[in-house]
Amino acid sequence: MNDHTNLDTDDGQRFIEGDGTPDADWQAWGGLAALPLLDVAALVPPGARAVIVAPHPDDEMLGCGGLLQALAAQRSRTLLVAVTDGAASHPGSPLWPPHRLACARPLETGHALDVLGLAGTQVIRARLPDGDVAAHAPQLQTMLQQLLRPGDVVFATWRLDGHPDHEASGHAAALAARACRATLVELPIWSWHWAAPGDVRIPWRRARRLVLSSERLRRKRDAIHCYHSQLRADPSTGRPSVLPPTVLERLLHPYEIYFL
Ligand SMILES: [Zn+2]
Repeated sequence: MNDHTNLDTDDGQRFIEGDGTPDADWQAWGGLAALPLLDVAALVPPGARAVIVAPHPDDEMLGCGGLLQALAAQRSRTLLVAVTDGAASHPGSPLWPPHRLACARPLETGHALDVLGLAGTQVIRARLPDGDVAAHAPQLQTMLQQLLRPGDVVFATWRLDGHPDHEASGHAAALAARACRATLVELPIWSWHWAAPGDVRIPWRRARRLVLSSERLRRKRDAIHCYHSQLRADPSTGRPSVLPPTVLERLLHPYEIYFL
């Protein structure tokens, strides 16, 4: 593990293309499994609220399906802020036009939360345009600042995660958290695609590992299977699934990584 940077410098070069770094490379490296542990009880103490900022319907589960279970187990209040309804995942698809996605994908989130026994989770939808969050980041920041209270712990996609919506959501969440005296924790999702083991672009010194029991990992896997629109190939365009097995493997380790 190379941790000689924790500056989160924006040096570009975060391309999400091709199959990305094989999960076998991450597994063989061992650096992730050696990261310090995340103490959820210390991070989100009794009385504090966790606010999850998910750019797309599925990020809440891909990034923190284990954390959601840990929060529920310690009876923390959790609020999910859904930034977009995910209407742009199938461009030009006759089978999955934007209006269908905007209906179906939020329902998939609901089903996934139900699988975790978290059907009662409060969800607030910002309904910003999928793929264009950056242009509406001030709007998102304002909304978050109206929601956040001092002492909240905000879990948002990392500001340098590589996907424009993830980065814009992360920046808005960071600014809002600072303004509201809330704690910001960042979650990498697409980083595992473009980064490589020991990558100097990853802020390893801020990285913590949340261990998932086999039962929680199984439930996270079951919950991810609710995102049908993202898991199936699209015969109307001939495109493969948005979330192929190579992507899921990287996000179904027996731990989740967070940047403090
Ligand atoms: Zn996303």
